[in-house]
Amino acid sequence: MRLEPIQPVDLRTDRPQSARMYDFLLGGKTNFPVDRAVAEQALAAYPGLRTVTRMNRAFMRIAVEFLARQGITQFLDIGTGIPTTPNVHEIAQGIHPDARIVYTDNDPIVLAHARALLTGTTGEGRVDYIEADLRQPQQILGHSCLTGEHPALDLDRPVALQLISVLHFVPDQDEPYALVRELLKPLAPGSYLVLSHATADSNPEAVNRGADTYRAAGVRFQTRDRAEVEAFADGLELLAPGVATPTTWWPAFAGDAELPYADDPAVDDAYLLIARKP
Ligand code: SAH
Repeated sequence: MRLEPIQPVDLRTDRPQSARMYDFLLGGKTNFPVDRAVAEQALAAYPGLRTVTRMNRAFMRIAVEFLARQGITQFLDIGTGIPTTPNVHEIAQGIHPDARIVYTDNDPIVLAHARALLTGTTGEGRVDYIEADLRQPQQILGHSCLTGEHPALDLDRPVALQLISVLHFVPDQDEPYALVRELLKPLAPGSYLVLSHATADSNPEAVNRGADTYRAAGVRFQTRDRAEVEAFADGLELLAPGVATPTTWWPAFAGDAELPYADDPAVDDAYLLIARKP
């Protein structure tokens, strides 16, 4: 994989970071006391948080497998998170050894771990990493990984744009709908949008208590209802069952893979969607 030179980074271990809290909730070790403290507070306020986190990671795996089997070999994964097995490239290259994956995150700890861990790329495939903020899409679209002489992704062919469990960290004042439109614009017809998003539709009190804990700790967080999530796929063709909670989505896509923690009502505190660009 190609990476820029190593530079000293400030990991901001004095403040909780969403990537490290997510890692803690998944049972990972790449997190600091401040992340664990806030995640524990959020779990106390909203015990379903761990369920919905683990469901989300399973969603990523199933969506990548599904798209790879549709013939998609290029993935632009924004808000990648700290590596955890399996990662997008391991799933995609397991099906297409020549698959190409560009990861993007704005947290320096993700970059640091990407160097060490995202190395398992196959000889024919390629994995690149862009350190960029989703709120500045040109940092991503204008990056040499996408525009250079030997770009990692060929934008004349379909790409899966993955925004998995990241847009709830982009409140409305940052114009997330315009950002998603801008990211989709250069993608070829036949490209896909893969998205998961926290919602308070099913269990408003508990979810809002959890969201308040994040916000009180300085992590920007906004849940969205079904219509607000669906609006991210404006102009695209939603694959059935459309924007759905996991209990509805799973039977349509997951084959034999069971919905994890299906007996916890919190499993439905997210909306999932896959949509195709016509
Ligand atoms: N997509 C992964 C990880 C989700 S955790 C998965 O679903 O398993 C959310 C990730 O989004 C974190 O790694 C966090 O650092 C990243 N993130 C949050 N806001 C972002 C932004 N504005 N730009 C880029 N990445 C962001």
